Amino acid sequence: MNDLTFIGVGGAFAVELGGNCAYLKDGNTLLLVDCCEDATIKLKNNNAFDGVENLIIAITHTHADHVAGLGTLIWQCNSIFNIRPKIVSNSNSFELHLRQLMKLLGVEEKLFEFVGAEAVQVDGCKIEMQPTTHTPILEAFGIMFSDSKGKYYYTGDTNDFQYVKELALDEDVKRIYCEVSRNAGNVHLVYDRLKEIKSNKLVLMHFENIDLYNLAKTDGFNVAVIS
Ligand SMILES: [Zn+2]
Ligand SMILES: [Zn+2]
Repeated sequence: MNDLTFIGVGGAFAVELGGNCAYLKDGNTLLLVDCCEDATIKLKNNNAFDGVENLIIAITHTHADHVAGLGTLIWQCNSIFNIRPKIVSNSNSFELHLRQLMKLLGVEEKLFEFVGAEAVQVDGCKIEMQPTTHTPILEAFGIMFSDSKGKYYYTGDTNDFQYVKELALDEDVKRIYCEVSRNAGNVHLVYDRLKEIKSNKLVLMHFENIDLYNLAKTDGFNVAVIS
Protein backbone atom coordinates (compact mmCIF):
# COMPACT_ATOMS: atom_id res chain seq x y z
CA MET A 1 0.00 0.00 0.00
CA ASN A 2 1.29 3.44 -0.86
CA ASP A 3 1.42 6.10 1.84
CA LEU A 4 -1.76 8.00 2.54
CA THR A 5 -1.64 11.65 1.48
CA PHE A 6 -2.80 13.94 4.29
CA ILE A 7 -4.61 17.21 3.68
CA GLY A 8 -4.88 17.94 7.41
CA VAL A 9 -3.32 16.51 10.56
CA GLY A 10 -5.13 18.39 13.33
CA GLY A 11 -7.59 17.33 15.98
CA ALA A 12 -10.85 19.12 16.67
CA PHE A 13 -9.27 22.25 18.16
CA ALA A 14 -6.13 22.45 16.03
CA VAL A 15 -7.71 24.41 13.19
CA GLU A 16 -4.32 25.68 12.05
CA LEU A 17 -3.34 22.06 11.24
CA GLY A 18 -6.61 21.35 9.40
CA GLY A 19 -9.03 18.55 10.20
CA ASN A 20 -7.34 15.14 10.07
CA CYS A 21 -8.11 13.81 6.61
CA ALA A 22 -6.21 11.65 4.12
CA TYR A 23 -6.58 10.03 0.74
CA LEU A 24 -5.27 7.22 -1.42
CA LYS A 25 -5.44 7.40 -5.18
CA ASP A 26 -5.45 4.46 -7.56
CA GLY A 27 -6.06 5.29 -11.23
CA ASN A 28 -9.60 6.54 -11.54
CA THR A 29 -10.47 5.64 -7.93
CA LEU A 30 -10.01 8.00 -5.00
CA LEU A 31 -10.44 6.77 -1.44
CA LEU A 32 -10.92 9.54 1.09
CA VAL A 33 -10.50 8.79 4.79
CA ASP A 34 -12.72 11.20 6.71
CA CYS A 35 -13.91 14.47 5.30
CA CYS A 36 -12.72 17.58 7.11
CA GLU A 37 -14.45 20.92 6.75
CA ASP A 38 -12.35 22.17 3.83
CA ALA A 39 -11.68 18.79 2.22
CA THR A 40 -13.11 19.75 -1.17
CA ILE A 41 -10.90 22.78 -1.80
CA LYS A 42 -7.82 21.02 -0.45
CA LEU A 43 -8.40 18.00 -2.69
CA LYS A 44 -8.93 20.29 -5.67
CA ASN A 45 -5.72 22.17 -4.89
CA ASN A 46 -3.89 18.81 -4.84
CA ASN A 47 -5.46 17.84 -8.18
CA ALA A 48 -6.71 14.75 -6.38
CA PHE A 49 -9.87 14.60 -8.49
CA ASP A 50 -7.99 14.48 -11.81
CA GLY A 51 -9.19 11.45 -13.78
CA VAL A 52 -11.35 10.23 -10.91
CA GLU A 53 -14.54 8.37 -11.78
CA ASN A 54 -15.02 6.53 -8.53
CA LEU A 55 -14.93 8.28 -5.13
CA ILE A 56 -15.07 6.16 -2.00
CA ILE A 57 -15.36 7.86 1.38
CA ALA A 58 -14.57 6.02 4.62
CA ILE A 59 -15.82 8.01 7.62
CA THR A 60 -14.37 6.91 10.97
CA HIS A 61 -16.97 8.73 13.09
CA THR A 62 -19.21 11.76 13.03
CA HIS A 63 -17.25 14.28 15.10
CA ALA A 64 -17.25 17.55 13.16
CA ASP A 65 -13.51 17.53 12.47
CA HIS A 66 -13.99 14.24 10.57
CA VAL A 67 -17.23 14.77 8.72
CA ALA A 68 -17.98 18.51 8.44
CA GLY A 69 -17.04 18.70 4.76
CA LEU A 70 -19.07 15.73 3.58
CA GLY A 71 -22.12 17.61 2.31
CA THR A 72 -20.07 20.07 0.26
CA LEU A 73 -17.96 17.24 -1.16
CA ILE A 74 -21.04 15.26 -2.24
CA TRP A 75 -22.49 18.32 -3.95
CA GLN A 76 -19.21 19.15 -5.65
CA CYS A 77 -18.75 15.59 -6.91
CA ASN A 78 -22.24 15.37 -8.36
CA SER A 79 -22.50 18.83 -9.88
CA ILE A 80 -18.93 19.41 -11.08
CA PHE A 81 -17.37 15.97 -11.57
CA ASN A 82 -20.48 13.90 -12.32
CA ILE A 83 -19.45 11.41 -9.62
CA ARG A 84 -21.85 9.85 -7.12
CA PRO A 85 -19.72 9.16 -4.04
CA LYS A 86 -19.84 5.85 -2.25
CA ILE A 87 -19.70 5.95 1.55
CA VAL A 88 -18.31 2.85 3.25
CA SER A 89 -20.43 1.39 6.01
CA ASN A 90 -21.06 -2.01 7.54
CA SER A 91 -23.21 -0.66 10.36
CA ASN A 92 -26.92 0.04 9.91
CA SER A 93 -26.94 2.49 12.82
CA PHE A 94 -23.91 4.41 11.56
CA GLU A 95 -25.44 4.54 8.09
CA LEU A 96 -28.65 5.91 9.59
CA HIS A 97 -26.75 8.65 11.43
CA LEU A 98 -24.97 9.70 8.24
CA ARG A 99 -28.26 9.71 6.31
CA GLN A 100 -29.80 11.92 9.01
CA LEU A 101 -26.81 14.24 9.01
CA MET A 102 -26.96 14.63 5.24
CA LYS A 103 -30.73 15.15 5.37
CA LEU A 104 -30.29 17.98 7.89
CA LEU A 105 -27.73 19.54 5.57
CA GLY A 106 -30.14 19.30 2.65
CA VAL A 107 -28.04 16.74 0.76
CA GLU A 108 -30.43 14.46 -1.13
CA GLU A 109 -29.97 10.71 -0.72
CA LYS A 110 -29.87 10.17 -4.48
CA LEU A 111 -26.52 12.02 -4.55
CA PHE A 112 -24.62 9.31 -2.67
CA GLU A 113 -24.81 5.63 -1.83
CA PHE A 114 -23.49 3.28 0.81
CA VAL A 115 -21.24 0.31 0.10
CA GLY A 116 -19.94 -2.40 2.40
CA ALA A 117 -16.20 -2.43 3.02
CA GLU A 118 -15.95 -5.85 1.34
CA ALA A 119 -16.86 -4.18 -1.98
CA VAL A 120 -13.89 -1.79 -1.79
CA GLN A 121 -10.48 -2.39 -3.30
CA VAL A 122 -8.01 0.47 -3.75
CA ASP A 123 -4.29 0.34 -4.54
CA GLY A 124 -4.41 -3.45 -4.21
CA CYS A 125 -5.84 -3.11 -0.70
CA LYS A 126 -8.96 -4.44 0.88
CA ILE A 127 -10.34 -2.47 3.77
CA GLU A 128 -12.20 -3.35 6.93
CA MET A 129 -14.05 -0.89 9.17
CA GLN A 130 -13.23 -2.10 12.68
CA PRO A 131 -15.38 -0.83 15.56
CA THR A 132 -13.36 0.95 18.20
CA THR A 133 -14.01 2.95 21.36
CA HIS A 134 -13.81 6.73 21.39
CA THR A 135 -16.61 8.70 23.04
CA PRO A 136 -19.57 6.94 24.63
CA ILE A 137 -22.07 8.73 22.39
CA LEU A 138 -20.69 8.02 18.92
CA GLU A 139 -19.95 4.90 16.92
CA ALA A 140 -16.31 4.98 15.84
CA PHE A 141 -14.17 2.85 13.53
CA GLY A 142 -10.55 2.22 12.78
CA ILE A 143 -9.67 1.16 9.25
CA MET A 144 -7.56 -1.91 8.53
CA PHE A 145 -6.05 -1.94 5.05
CA SER A 146 -4.54 -5.18 3.83
CA ASP A 147 -2.68 -6.20 0.69
CA SER A 148 -0.37 -9.04 -0.33
CA LYS A 149 2.50 -7.48 1.65
CA GLY A 150 0.78 -6.89 4.94
CA LYS A 151 -1.61 -4.76 6.95
CA TYR A 152 -1.83 -1.03 7.58
CA TYR A 153 -4.04 0.42 10.29
CA TYR A 154 -5.63 3.84 10.57
CA THR A 155 -6.81 4.39 14.11
CA GLY A 156 -9.42 7.07 13.50
CA ASP A 157 -10.10 8.59 16.92
CA THR A 158 -9.80 5.96 19.62
CA ASN A 159 -8.87 5.36 23.24
CA ASP A 160 -7.95 1.70 22.63
CA PHE A 161 -4.24 1.86 23.41
CA GLN A 162 -3.99 -1.89 23.96
CA TYR A 163 -5.05 -2.69 20.40
CA VAL A 164 -2.49 -0.29 18.94
CA LYS A 165 0.18 -1.85 21.13
CA GLU A 166 -0.78 -5.33 19.89
CA LEU A 167 -0.69 -4.19 16.26
CA ALA A 168 2.76 -2.68 16.78
CA LEU A 169 3.99 -6.15 17.81
CA ASP A 170 2.22 -7.93 14.95
CA GLU A 171 4.68 -8.79 12.16
CA ASP A 172 1.95 -8.55 9.53
CA VAL A 173 1.25 -4.94 10.42
CA LYS A 174 3.59 -2.67 8.51
CA ARG A 175 2.29 0.82 9.36
CA ILE A 176 -0.04 2.38 11.91
CA TYR A 177 -1.47 5.83 11.33
CA CYS A 178 -2.03 6.74 14.93
CA GLU A 179 -3.98 9.62 16.49
CA VAL A 180 -2.43 11.28 19.51
CA SER A 181 -3.21 13.70 22.30
CA ARG A 182 -1.65 14.92 25.53
CA ASN A 183 -4.92 15.93 27.16
CA ALA A 184 -6.72 12.80 26.09
CA GLY A 185 -9.72 13.04 28.40
CA ASN A 186 -10.18 9.25 28.12
CA VAL A 187 -11.20 9.52 24.47
CA HIS A 188 -7.83 9.64 22.70
CA LEU A 189 -4.48 7.85 22.67
CA VAL A 190 -2.05 9.40 25.11
CA TYR A 191 1.28 10.67 23.79
CA ASP A 192 3.37 9.52 26.73
CA ARG A 193 1.99 6.00 26.45
CA LEU A 194 2.67 5.86 22.72
CA LYS A 195 6.29 6.65 23.55
CA GLU A 196 6.37 3.30 25.39
CA ILE A 197 5.61 1.43 22.15
CA LYS A 198 8.87 2.49 20.48
CA SER A 199 7.93 1.31 17.00
CA ASN A 200 8.81 3.04 13.78
CA LYS A 201 5.59 1.63 12.33
CA LEU A 202 3.76 4.48 14.05
CA VAL A 203 2.93 7.53 11.98
CA LEU A 204 1.39 10.08 14.33
CA MET A 205 -1.54 12.21 13.17
CA HIS A 206 -4.53 14.16 14.55
CA PHE A 207 -2.44 16.42 16.80
CA GLU A 208 -4.20 18.59 19.36
CA ASN A 209 -1.92 21.56 18.62
CA ILE A 210 1.26 22.57 16.82
CA ASP A 211 3.30 22.22 20.01
CA LEU A 212 2.54 18.50 20.13
CA TYR A 213 3.27 18.16 16.42
CA ASN A 214 6.70 19.74 16.94
CA LEU A 215 7.36 17.73 20.08
CA ALA A 216 6.60 14.47 18.27
CA LYS A 217 9.09 15.36 15.56
CA THR A 218 11.71 16.33 18.14
CA ASP A 219 11.17 13.04 19.94
CA GLY A 220 11.82 11.13 16.72
CA PHE A 221 8.31 10.00 15.86
CA ASN A 222 7.23 9.66 12.25
CA VAL A 223 4.53 12.26 11.73
CA ALA A 224 1.94 12.64 9.00
CA VAL A 225 2.79 15.59 6.77
CA ILE A 226 0.26 17.83 5.12
CA SER A 227 0.53 17.76 1.32
ZN1 LIG B 1 -11.01 14.05 15.85
ZN1 LIG C 1 -13.47 12.25 17.54
